[in-house]
Amino acid sequence: MAQQYDYIVLGAGSGGIASANRAAMRGAKVLLIEAQHLGGTCVNVGCVPKKVMWFGAQVAEAINLYSEDYGFDVELKKFEWSKLVASREAYIERIHGGYNRGLASNGVTLVRGFGKFVDKNTVEVNGEQYFAENILIATGGRPTIPAIPGAEYGIDSNGFFALQEQPKRVAVVGAGYIAVELAGVLHSLGSETHLLVRKHAPLRNFDPLMTETLVELMAEDGPTLHTHSTPKQLVKNADGSLTLKLENGHSVEVDCLIWAIGREPSTDKINIEAAGVKVNERGFIPVDEYQNTNVAGIYTVGDIMEGGIELTPVAVKAGRALSERLFGGQPQAKMDYSLVPTVVFSHPAIGTIGLTEPQAREQYGDDNIKVYTSSFGAMYTAVTAHRQATKMKLVCAGPDEKVVGLHGIGLGMDEILQGFAVAMKMGATKADFDATVALHPTSAEEFVTMR
Ligand code: NDP
Repeated sequence: MAQQYDYIVLGAGSGGIASANRAAMRGAKVLLIEAQHLGGTCVNVGCVPKKVMWFGAQVAEAINLYSEDYGFDVELKKFEWSKLVASREAYIERIHGGYNRGLASNGVTLVRGFGKFVDKNTVEVNGEQYFAENILIATGGRPTIPAIPGAEYGIDSNGFFALQEQPKRVAVVGAGYIAVELAGVLHSLGSETHLLVRKHAPLRNFDPLMTETLVELMAEDGPTLHTHSTPKQLVKNADGSLTLKLENGHSVEVDCLIWAIGREPSTDKINIEAAGVKVNERGFIPVDEYQNTNVAGIYTVGDIMEGGIELTPVAVKAGRALSERLFGGQPQAKMDYSLVPTVVFSHPAIGTIGLTEPQAREQYGDDNIKVYTSSFGAMYTAVTAHRQATKMKLVCAGPDEKVVGLHGIGLGMDEILQGFAVAMKMGATKADFDATVALHPTSAEEFVTMR
């Protein structure tokens, strides 16, 4: 006889935990199922450990690039990768503890094991069956490995976070967030780093000013960028090193290679067919605006939803909205997927909200778009030999110059962005930006003083 719940959540990643907690807070009897660590990709092998590594890279940059001109005579004895990893993992352990306490205080039942559908209302874990009228699939994704000979000699982002020693020479293959972030961290921490992209630049879908500036800054201080470099074969040499052979006839020799060419949804091992839930040809689950799948009572949030935005806070917000709708007496609650701010933790960070300039021109027409830009050296680097550029762009639409796109690359951009996202969500115009008194001296002030 299956145990009865109001809500079963498959997967304790960011979306699953948020939804489970909110449902329980609204009085539902909730079962949360997880085979691995609490927190999913973000906490264990994604945002959180990445940000710690990025902070480590900031410390390295402060010592190597800036300390001298600020008057410090620093002698760096060594950098211990394993020490940074240990500090990082201890922090993650504390986050696991916080999750456990939160789930317990909300009364969520946590079952450790791999859940599989038996039918549309029943899930089996460790031989036990559980029944609920409402089931959330929040199983997240995993890195994609290319189908080329020798690909198995490389590691993925999970493998990066498992590294106990710093690779001396490393190649990162891919052109998205993960490739850019990992390559930047490895370079700043002292590895000889190669970033290989198959087209002309990384982050091609970002505003061109961001992409161009990132490429320029990488050339000044960053990983060696190899463009038009499509992998053909990875060879393991007798001395343990790796040679990546490219379609263009070139090759790169390294000690470690990281595939960062995208992620795929983990929907293939949960017997989803038994529930009758449709997936597309790549395994993503189509949903409507309320996170409903094609099967009544089965929902999905996060990286496995078709056409979604693969960001933790998006999954969290969607998961909570769903629980408010199902158990919180808010039948209209849903996630608003517009104007989602996002930051790439590159060197320096890139922040973006809304439309890129090309997207805005296409959507509104050239005549209805006005673009403002600002370009300056970050003040932090104004007194140092190593200078770093900051570039910002506002994309405004219509006669009232509504700000429909905001983009920046530069020091502090990661922290600058959130407040501007609030303003844009409220429909701010260029005049509203101009009416705001600047905070001086900061980089952020440029967003309210552009001419
Ligand atoms: P992305 O899908 O963002 O980027 C992967 C890129 O790699 C593709 O866009 C493509 O770029 C390139 N690529 C694809 N296939 C190949 C191939 N066979 N060989 C070489 N290059 C290839 O994936 P990521 O894994 O970087 O990130 C997944 C998602 O996770 C992101 O979209 C983001 O939403 C999220 N994320 C967010 C972070 C943050 O908020 N800071 C950090 C990390 C991840 P091209 O077509 O130009 O070659």
